[in-house]
Amino acid sequence: MSNDCPFCGIVAGEIPGRIVFESDDVTAFLDANPLAPGHTLVVPNDHHERLTDLSEELAREVFAALHRLTPAVEAAADADGSNVAFNNGPAAGQEVPHLHGHIIPRFDDDGGAP
Ligand code: 5GP
Ligand code: ZN
Repeated sequence: MSNDCPFCGIVAGEIPGRIVFESDDVTAFLDANPLAPGHTLVVPNDHHERLTDLSEELAREVFAALHRLTPAVEAAADADGSNVAFNNGPAAGQEVPHLHGHIIPRFDDDGGAP
């Protein structure tokens, strides 16, 4: 756990988060500033910054959660598709240094890819 990390705080229950899924290894919660209704973040419970900081086994767990949650998020948002993505490192736009996968619902009429 990293003390000044908001996602560690959410996983630990010390910072409020709208959690939609949790297991021993992975937690998913709604983004505080959603790019679309239902925008969900999927994180490993342990603090790791980048994709390659995860063990292959933990990466599999994170991806399995994304695989399971993506259709549920799309259905809950009544979306037509979604962007499922990681910003890996500050150069790629990663602002929170606790690896997280985004599930961003998309709609046929939402103006196209960002
Ligand atoms: P990044 O740019 O690092 O890939 O994305 C960070 C995401 O985390 C942003 O979409 C931002 O809205 C979200 N975020 C930042 N701080 C918090 C927080 O404290 N709680 C929640 N639920 N989301 C956060
Ligand atoms: Zn963290």
